[in-house]
Amino acid sequence: MTLWHQGYSLRWALILRVLLPLLVAMSLVTVAGLRTMESAIETRMKEDVELVARAIRLPISDSLERGEQGNVRQALESVFRIGRVYGAYVYDDAGDLVAAVGAVNPTPESRELADRAADGERSGDYEQIQGQEVYSYFEPLTDSSGRISGLLQVTRRESDFRDDIERLRLQAVAFMGAAGGVITLLVLWGHRGAIGRHLAGLTRSMARIEAGERDHRAVAEGPKEVRSMSTAFNTMLNSMEAAEQEIARRRSEQARLEDELRHAEKLAAIGRLAAGVAHELGTPLSVIDGKAQRALRQADSESRQHRALEQIRSEVARMEHIVRQLLEFARSASRQLRWTRVGDLTGAALSSLEDVLHDHGASVQVRGEMPGPEIYVDPVRIEQVLVNLLRNALQAGATQLGVDWSEDNGWITVCVDDNGPGVAEDIRPRLFEPFFTTKTVGKGTGLGLAVVHGIVTEHGGGIAIEQSPDGGARFRVKLPRQAPNSEGSDDDQEHGEAGGTSSPG
Ligand code: ADP
Repeated sequence: MTLWHQGYSLRWALILRVLLPLLVAMSLVTVAGLRTMESAIETRMKEDVELVARAIRLPISDSLERGEQGNVRQALESVFRIGRVYGAYVYDDAGDLVAAVGAVNPTPESRELADRAADGERSGDYEQIQGQEVYSYFEPLTDSSGRISGLLQVTRRESDFRDDIERLRLQAVAFMGAAGGVITLLVLWGHRGAIGRHLAGLTRSMARIEAGERDHRAVAEGPKEVRSMSTAFNTMLNSMEAAEQEIARRRSEQARLEDELRHAEKLAAIGRLAAGVAHELGTPLSVIDGKAQRALRQADSESRQHRALEQIRSEVARMEHIVRQLLEFARSASRQLRWTRVGDLTGAALSSLEDVLHDHGASVQVRGEMPGPEIYVDPVRIEQVLVNLLRNALQAGATQLGVDWSEDNGWITVCVDDNGPGVAEDIRPRLFEPFFTTKTVGKGTGLGLAVVHGIVTEHGGGIAIEQSPDGGARFRVKLPRQAPNSEGSDDDQEHGEAGGTSSPG
């Protein structure tokens, strides 16, 4: 039941589909051979009887013609002595028994015998004599003139044939049994050696993998077919593993892209809000500043009113700075791309920060080779990036700044280093978010790095923060030499403008 329920094993398939038909065919051949041999034996035995009868036919005919009963009997006895004969009988032409040796007279009907004799034909039959199955052979006897003078009957026990045949059958069955057993053993042994154990190995491997040993692989051994099965199995596992890895890679890539998209959407929404707010605040602020300026002219320079008005103007200036930053952050893709040298961009950024650098007593080391590689960017925006990064470093308390650049395979990397306190690991992921600041209220807007990030990604690049060898923070900006989707061309005229970058106001 279980066998059929689970499907039968290869060994059973072999037994049922190869061994069994083989043994059946062998049996059929043996049976057919046995039949042929049996009939050959029977024929030979019958011929024996006929030969014996024919051998004594003439002397008996003679003796019968001459009426020498004694000689008839003698001839019969001589035959009987040869053996193999069960009984021998002589009848006259009327069917009456003249002489008999061996088994007691079979007493066939005289009439029947007379008819047989009259026929003058030889004939043989099976019959029963004293409860024994016998083969009787009748040979007609003729006198010298050729007239039928009687009948000679020689019998032989059928069991003589049957015993021989029985023995032969027993031998054949024993031989078949032994041969069948040996063949079965040989086939099963051969199956195990040639296929069985290799398939068992493969099955064990599959079970191990199913149990969780994902790295396990089947050993390719045994006949070619099993080996190629193992190899195919291993290849399948390898490609499954590769596919799983690919799926995992794509999943994380998708998650990363979704994150980026969410971030970009967030930035765009904040940008729109910032632009709206900045736009609305711009006019009232300049009105306030204008009015304060006019009032200031009329106020006494030593008075409290004058100081208050100056305070108003400085706060308005700060608010205008914030509004500018907001506008900067919200500024969309109205880019003015040009071929520009990185050294010129750095120079422009440094000259716009000259006063601030002086106030902080800080020095800047330009480490990149001048005038630096050419890059197709919006110079004002990229300068803004450098200015923001350098200013942040100064605000963090750095006194030594460094700007370095390098070109590699169509990408230009600019590093801004400082010897300030650096950026703690835990806030790094949030650093480029708009409005993220560690500064006290009124000191920072949290927009500087968001603007930097926006400009860099707008140019098809990226920005990363790491530990600087100078001890503080290092901001690594990576930009394509020419962004793939920038409409700019390499023509000479456009190229020529590269050097003419002006410093921002
Ligand atoms: P803000 O300067 O207005 O705070 P930013 O976006 O420019 O906004 O900077 C965000 C935060 O990043 C800062 O508050 C500061 O904590 C940190 N940061 C930026 N640059 C540096 C630097 N060079 N060294 C240390 N911290 C820095």
